[in-house]
Amino acid sequence: MLLILSSHSSQAEIDALTAHLVALGHRPRQVRRRISVPGARALTLSGFPAVERAIDIGEPYPLVARAAEPLGTTVQVGKVAVGDGGFTLMAGPCAVESRGQLLGIARAVHAAGAHLLRGGAFKPRTSPYAFQGLGADGLDLLAEARAETGLPVVSEIMDARDLDRALPHVDLIQIGSRNMQNFSLLKAVGAAGKPVLLKRGLAATIEELLLAAEYVVAAGNPNVILCERGIRTFEPALRNTLDLGAVALIKRKSHLPILVDPSHATGDYRLVAPLALAALAVGADGLLVEVHDQPERAQCDGAQSIRPDRFARLVESLRTLGAALGRRV
Ligand code: PEP
Ligand code: MN
Repeated sequence: MLLILSSHSSQAEIDALTAHLVALGHRPRQVRRRISVPGARALTLSGFPAVERAIDIGEPYPLVARAAEPLGTTVQVGKVAVGDGGFTLMAGPCAVESRGQLLGIARAVHAAGAHLLRGGAFKPRTSPYAFQGLGADGLDLLAEARAETGLPVVSEIMDARDLDRALPHVDLIQIGSRNMQNFSLLKAVGAAGKPVLLKRGLAATIEELLLAAEYVVAAGNPNVILCERGIRTFEPALRNTLDLGAVALIKRKSHLPILVDPSHATGDYRLVAPLALAALAVGADGLLVEVHDQPERAQCDGAQSIRPDRFARLVESLRTLGAALGRRV
């Protein structure tokens, strides 16, 4: 059950309502002018003027369910609005490798029309011997690229202990697939106040993804953007299987914006453009794309990284398709 609080309710009225729900054995959680009451199917609240409306969500994730915000949520990342009907382009290298590499790519994706710069400072690598990212030095380089291009920055945090260091440098905190169900990290970014980009786990169901998002919102942070980045299936031909059906379904099930990452979904730079166009057509709110100026020398994910000129052509194609679909790119 989700309770929508009236805009003129007083704190005393809200407190009385909360105390009533607790006395009934519920665990209410307030985020802005919403109170989620997990598990409740019917409540008599006529004596509580704080409640404008009670919605029986019928889903285990009342705060992120579409019924909670039927018109959808727009997440503001710096100057960029994500989920307002436009199509947001986040692009950059998998990993920040050097000052020259990052600034060169940042300038190129900015010129091509990207809205946000992505780059990993802390990299979740399968092998402990693989390049792990530049860490805090990478954050400094991202801040420099942001200052020069004006692009807000998206970067992954793997450990809550790095949050304080990252917050001044990063405009959108990425939670990677491997951490989608790291619940203590979800609670920490929920409390941190910065917008969060939550990537679907390698083998997570749609419901598990939405429950992970519910963790962040329930911890007090309503600014969550989802990302479909491919899941593990029986099919080994591509790195992952891009679940575009999930994107269409999540648009119905949740009010949160959802991006598509065609780079990790395919693992193949030649397939990034067709799946990026499919993401626009299916109704995604934007893309996360890996771009590298020298993919063959990339420390990480070179095989799926497109060069800046290919990214620029992709943006042109997206604009053409967007015009046909009535979508602003
Ligand atoms: C990434 O965005 O570079 C990344 C590691 O993605 P994922 O968590 O989806 O594998
Ligand atoms: Mn990557």
